[in-house]
Amino acid sequence: MRALISVTDKKNVDYLAKSLSDLGYEIVSTGGTLKKILDSGIKAIDIEEVTGFPEILDGRVKTLSPKVHGAILYKRDDEEHKKTILEQDIEPIDIVVVNLYDFQGALKTRDHDNIIENIDIGGPTLIRSTAKNYKDVLIVTDPSDYEEVVERLKNKTDDLEFREKLAAKAFSLTAYYDSMISRYFLNRTSLDSKYYSLGFEKISDLRYGENPSQSAKVYEDNFVESYLSNLEILHGKEMSFNNYNDLNVAVELAAELGKNSVVGLKHATPCAASKAESIYEAYIKTYNADPVSIFGGIIAANGIVDRDTAVEMSKIFLEIIVAEDFTEEALEVLTEKKNIRLVKVDFSLSSVNIDVKYLNGKVLIQDKDQAVDGFEVVTDKKPTDSEIEDLKFAMTVVKHAKSNAIVIAKDLVTLGIGGGQTSRIWALESIGNNHPDKSFKNSVLASDAFFPFDDCVTLAGEMGVKSIIQPGGSKKDIDSIKKCNELNISMVFTGQRHFKH
Ligand code: 5GP
Repeated sequence: MRALISVTDKKNVDYLAKSLSDLGYEIVSTGGTLKKILDSGIKAIDIEEVTGFPEILDGRVKTLSPKVHGAILYKRDDEEHKKTILEQDIEPIDIVVVNLYDFQGALKTRDHDNIIENIDIGGPTLIRSTAKNYKDVLIVTDPSDYEEVVERLKNKTDDLEFREKLAAKAFSLTAYYDSMISRYFLNRTSLDSKYYSLGFEKISDLRYGENPSQSAKVYEDNFVESYLSNLEILHGKEMSFNNYNDLNVAVELAAELGKNSVVGLKHATPCAASKAESIYEAYIKTYNADPVSIFGGIIAANGIVDRDTAVEMSKIFLEIIVAEDFTEEALEVLTEKKNIRLVKVDFSLSSVNIDVKYLNGKVLIQDKDQAVDGFEVVTDKKPTDSEIEDLKFAMTVVKHAKSNAIVIAKDLVTLGIGGGQTSRIWALESIGNNHPDKSFKNSVLASDAFFPFDDCVTLAGEMGVKSIIQPGGSKKDIDSIKKCNELNISMVFTGQRHFKH
């Protein structure tokens, strides 16, 4: 009986080699792995003795040999195969243990030659050969399986079901590995290939999905580095499905608004946002902008949360506070609350320019909406400088609210956000209805898409809005422009629509 071991991650390989050796397997191994096994005092033979050929080209060719692949791929119950194996003097291999060159680690070096060198060729080939012939040869690709493999071999419970599961694991590893390589090349060449494999690695099971009846898991996209890549949970329960989804939107908006902005968010849609001189000031403004919706919501602070801010934050029930960081004193205050999640993210990383939606058998992939808005004044009246600041601020917020969405803001604070409405006028009406005591005098309004009629302008005028930003492009733009002129409201067109669903 023979076992071939060739691993980059050498964790516990000595344990495995010793156990297999004790069970009567002859160990065959490659360069670095062989050395590690021999150094642990376990007997093993060099792959070169099997291939009759030295490892060449800096290890690019080690196990790529008919002596190896014949030994793995032959069907044990096929008389012709058996004959060939004897004729060619090939010694069967019964177990193959492989894990692959650290391609992902190499990606981080951003050194093309190093990345290329870390494309494992023989490893995936060994895995594919073995997994194809899983009925006869055991494929082990995950060090966390070593113990179970040894136990099962010992007890002769390495049944077909177990072998097939190991094969499934093995093929999912090579598919993942190849998808990382393909994304690297597609990125470099900007090729719009017919085939596109993303390749995700599961990081954990979630308690449930959007609702308790839905099971869910969270995967990592190891190909990119973005806001959630290095997310650190400093305190509180594990993140839920909705937590991840909400946090992502809150962080994206706070990142886009810039330093010292604070976003309040519920159900993946912002309920309030502001930008100020400090995180403390911004938090107070955001909280006061909508003290109702924020209950049980998320706060994203693009900056460092200090003690005073923490004291204010601790006055209400929040699911998550996500920030660039927290001072020691802030942590002392906030960690007194058992249930709140305190999360640290790196706002300086960039947003990932991909948006994927899985439908029933169709997958929609698009770029993120990272459009920079143009600016064309279309009314007699022009917005003032401070109104322009507010218009840009409101447009950034409305981009992250679900369509149809309208945002009213003043002095870099939202006064109301109407999102997720099936009619545009309802989006605006909901702001008035939801904030009955609020004054919208001298505020600005942003709309994520054009006004199909002039009804929004009419209502905005009644509410006290002084300036409007919207993409424009409606057949009836002229009606809205006329109405603005009539009501002495300034309006700018951006030419960019920001639907979000
Ligand atoms: P070692 O540290 O034992 O020298 O190398 C182990 C690694 O080599 C494993 O990750 C395995 O996947 C890889 N490997 C095995 N055979 C070949 C081969 O023929 N060509 C290349 N490029 N890699 C191989």
